[in-house]
Order: sequence, then C-alpha cells, then structure tokens
Amino acid sequence: MNNVSLFGRSGNSFTVENGKFSSFSGSSDGAPRKYILPGFIDAHCHILPTGLDLAKLQLDDCKTQEDVLQAVAEWEKTMEPGAWLHAVHYDQTKFEGSKHIVCAQLDAISSTRPILLRHVNGHASIANSAALKAARVDHNTPDPDGGEFGRDDSGQLNGVLLEKAHEVVTSAMPEPSLEEMTEAILLAAQEMSKLGITAATDMMTGRWNLEKELMAYHAAAEQGSPVRFRLYVQWATVLHERKAIQPELLRELTRQMNPDLCRMEGLKVFADGAIGSATAAIHSRFRTTGGRGQLIYSEANLADILAKIDAAGWKCSVHTIGDRSTDLVMDAYEKFDDPTRHRIEHAMILSDQQIDRLANLNCHVTMQPEFLHWFGHAYRAQLEPEISSHLKRVKSCLDKGIRLSFNSDRPIVGGNPWDGIGAAVNRPEGFVISENIPLEKAIDLYTHGGADANSDLGSMGELKEGQWADYQVYDSEPKPGSSPTQVYRAGELVYDSNTVP
Ligand SMILES: [Zn+2]
Repeated sequence: MNNVSLFGRSGNSFTVENGKFSSFSGSSDGAPRKYILPGFIDAHCHILPTGLDLAKLQLDDCKTQEDVLQAVAEWEKTMEPGAWLHAVHYDQTKFEGSKHIVCAQLDAISSTRPILLRHVNGHASIANSAALKAARVDHNTPDPDGGEFGRDDSGQLNGVLLEKAHEVVTSAMPEPSLEEMTEAILLAAQEMSKLGITAATDMMTGRWNLEKELMAYHAAAEQGSPVRFRLYVQWATVLHERKAIQPELLRELTRQMNPDLCRMEGLKVFADGAIGSATAAIHSRFRTTGGRGQLIYSEANLADILAKIDAAGWKCSVHTIGDRSTDLVMDAYEKFDDPTRHRIEHAMILSDQQIDRLANLNCHVTMQPEFLHWFGHAYRAQLEPEISSHLKRVKSCLDKGIRLSFNSDRPIVGGNPWDGIGAAVNRPEGFVISENIPLEKAIDLYTHGGADANSDLGSMGELKEGQWADYQVYDSEPKPGSSPTQVYRAGELVYDSNTVP
C-alpha cells in the first residue's frame, strides 16, 4: 500500500506475505492519502455476552423508572410465553434519588414470566417474583457469601440482587445452545471488527458451560471470525475440586484450536465487586452505604486460589477495583517466582505506594478509560471527591514504568476503542487532568499494550516486519470520533465500510 502514514514508524508503503508484514519502505513526505494503525486489541471484554446482549432489550436510553417500566412492558408483549425477559444496561443512578425499581413494579408487568434487569455494571440485577421463584429464592434464603438479596423494611425480598445474589438468579436462566453461542460470538466479532478490533480477550469463559463455550469459540474462529480470540477461563471450572472440567477433556478441546486464531490464555478470578453498587473492596467508605465494600473471597482463600493457578502453570487475571482488594492481590503475587506472567484487571483506586508496589511486581495491569465516560456520576455518588477524581491513574502508572493496556470490558460499556482513547487523552469533567496522556500513547496502549496483556508481544500490535498484518485504514488522520474505512486481519480484508456500513 503506497503513500500512507504509518502509526508509530516512518514510511509510506509496506508489503504483506503469508499474512504478515514483510517490508516497510519510503519516507512519509507529502500529504498521505491513507493512515494505517495496527488493529486494536481489546484484551478485556466479554465476547459471548456481547453477542447475546445484542439481541436483548437495551435500557441505555431510559432516564427514569417510568421509561424502564414502559420499555419492559412493550418488549414483554412481543415475547413467547414462558421465555425469560432479560433486559440489559439498567442504571438506577440516572433516576431521581437513585431509587431502584423493585420486584412489585415488575410483577405488575408480568407475575408469571421471569423478568430480570441487569445493571450496567454487570454486578447487580433487579428480579421479579417469577425470576426469584425460578431461581428457588424466597424470603428464607440466606444471603450467599459475597452477595446480598435486597429486602424492604418489612424484611421481604424487594428484587434487588447484589454480586453473588445476582449471579444466583442469573444462573437460573436457561443456557444458550452451542449454535446460539457460536452465532452470538460471530455477531460480536463482526461488531468489534467494524471498530477496528482484530483481537479480543474474553475475560470470563465458562460462566455457563466451559466445554460448550470452548467449542463455540473454536467453531466461530474456524468459521472465519474477523477477530482473533484469547480466553481467560473462570478459575473454578478448571481448578475447583468438585466443579472442574476433566483435564483430558480440556486438553482435547484446546488442542483442536489454532492458537493464532483462538487460544486459552489463563484463569480469571474476582477479588471484589464494583464502585457503582458499593461492592468494590476499598480502604475508605462508600458514601451511600457507609461500608467498605465486599471481598469475594477471604484473604487466605484468595491467596490459595491464586497460588493454585500459578502452580498449575496458568496465568492469573484478577478483577480488583478497590484499593483494599488490590493490596491482597499484590500480597499474593509477591510470593510468586515470576509475577510478570500475571495480570491485574481494573486497579481503579491506587495510592502512590501501591503504584510503586505494582511497578516492582512488573505484572501487567489493564485499565478501561471508557468507564470514566459512562460511570462518572455513579463514582461521584459513591466516593469522596478526592478519590473519585483520581480514579484510573494512567499517567502516574506509566511514569513508574508499569506495563499497561487499555480495553473496554464490553458489554458493560459501548466498546468503541476511540471512546476509551478519548477519555484517557482528555479525561471527562470531574476527573483530574494530571492523569491525561498523549494521543499516540493512548493508541499504543490499545494496540501494543493489548498484545502485552495477551502475551502476544512481537507477533501483533505493531507495524513491524514479521508481525501479523492486522491493521486498520483511515481516510483522514485518526483521532477520537474516527471510524476505520477498512480493517485487515492477516493481510485479508475483513471489514470494508463501503460494503458493510
Ligand atoms: Zn470484565
């Protein structure tokens, strides 16, 4: 391709052989006609759930309780009898007084069809009575460890489900079939490809059925997915004494995969919850509850699980949002021979001292700047201003040499990499601008950084000889708000805005 501007290196033409960049030449003089970036790598998202969600009722535009109830009632009329009505992107923090919808309001729409509204943060839901009943939850059911069934003043369930309690009811929903899963994964991959993404990491494979999900990712990759898949599998489905898959079966399922296209990368553990639902484990206190959030596992338990993963040769990836849980993850990683193999997800609240510790560990840290764009109001409602304004200390981490990547956590957010890059370059109102970073660096964290997060350094994420020719083409200088006109994976055109709008 001639007369192009190449991101991160000089030159105006390149050649591709066997799917990889083989040479770069020329110098970028004169106005380029096209701009080339490496494909974006979204190293923390939820691919199958993204695909399944694309077919569900979306509540993003609802600003009041009435908006939500009306959308649910209209959708309900179009459904097959008995099927679950699952709506996504519910967010009570947009409502007057941040008051949750409760069970009885949903029962008024249908008391027989299970209805579940999933919170936009993915850690909470609102259920109607039929959904609670289908999950065998009643007012005698004790709260699960690391979760809570919301109750009204008289002690009756009000349908609000937090953390593990939300998982208890969500897991009562019927499981999608292998065909439905494969289709959903392909649908998600096509949507991601339009945004310039050429590789994506599913951060919770095994939430329904590990065997079926691995088969579905493999099938989607073989059926020509435009996006390469990396998979972090829910730890218990591989290492739990009672619940784990047979090791021979897991070996067989992963052996069939072409690792360039689809690969199991490591195991995922949750250490805490989220800020919006006051369930992240923090050292300070949440403004709404006065509490310090929730650890999913006790300190000893978490250390045990992580040690087990490390000893089994897998990479650990730990969701930790609060500073309190991040300390515990670092305590565990510091005992490993090689902490650099492992990842920390989110690390939203960090002190200077914690940043120094992370730098010493030299593990990879993933951050999702798009959160600032979507959840600023929820963060401010939950945290003291001096904490909320300093969330996601990207610049401070980079200054200390911490290995970082940017990712989306889609479907919790929209998932357009340019929205994340925009929020990192120009942090939204309410967030300190001293943590802003330059555009070039932000693009690098969504490409080269993603390759580091996935242990794909040297094979993708840069415009370099010998790397996969995974790249995006722009008609004008790319910046937040831009869309690629073409996307290539292994030198092959996988998306063209002229044919697929
Ligand atoms: Zn996630």
